[in-house]
Amino acid sequence: MRLILLGPPGAGKGTQAQRLTGKHGIVQLSTGDMLRAAVAAGTPVGLKAKSVMERGELVPDDVVVAIIAERIGQPDAKRGFILDGFPRTVPQAQALDRLLAERGLTLDAVIELKVDEGILLRRIEKRVADMTARGEKIRSDDNPDVLKGRLEAYRAQTAPLVGYYAGKGMLKSVDGMASIDDVTAAVSRHLSGPARASKPKSSGRKRRAAGSIKSGARKDGARPKRRAAPKRKSRTTRRKNRPSRRLTRAR
Ligand code: ADP
Repeated sequence: MRLILLGPPGAGKGTQAQRLTGKHGIVQLSTGDMLRAAVAAGTPVGLKAKSVMERGELVPDDVVVAIIAERIGQPDAKRGFILDGFPRTVPQAQALDRLLAERGLTLDAVIELKVDEGILLRRIEKRVADMTARGEKIRSDDNPDVLKGRLEAYRAQTAPLVGYYAGKGMLKSVDGMASIDDVTAAVSRHLSGPARASKPKSSGRKRRAAGSIKSGARKDGARPKRRAAPKRKSRTTRRKNRPSRRLTRAR
């Protein structure tokens, strides 16, 4: 399974990604975590990224695309992955499309966590307070001023991805303001839904019904209208009943 989690900072992408990795046996690929590790290790990428991240701006596309290209080729990503924090711009999404196509891979879904921006600031303040209470190190970009910049970067550069993936019929939106468990349940419902629709079982009627999804209703997520099924059923019923009715009348 290969997924993208989309949403502004503080939307809960990391929390949900961690739960999904356990459930589906796939790895979480967070470009934010990878970049922070690079900064901490003082690698050339880290040196480039440090000041950009501290300002809450985005690291150049070519840098993150190179990181992801290398990472998705590693053995632990073979079973699938959840991208958390990537892609963050339309050019990154286009680069991802190319990377996957080159490897003959596809995405299963793009899950958007929809949140109230006014509440995000409070969430991040709580995250900082909780981490401080646990004696953990605080992210240098987890402060109100930088968060404003991160939200602006999201609105200007990342939010257009909602339209990008909606246009491809891949976007699934979830209410990110619900409880953590409810968000996980909503995500799981989305993940089990399309998988069933795209793998019809062997009965003739089901195969034809799946065909009608393909030709129309699937784009807007609506349930397919199964107009053909009742007709066939009534014909079958007539055919089945005819001899016995005649038999009854003859008697
Ligand atoms: P957030 O909590 O804002 O979602 P992340 O941990 O995903 O934070 O990312 C932290 C910072 O790392 C971002 O503000 C940005 O500077 C950089 N970053 C992470 N992923 C990307 C990306 N795909 N493209 C550009 N910059 C990125």
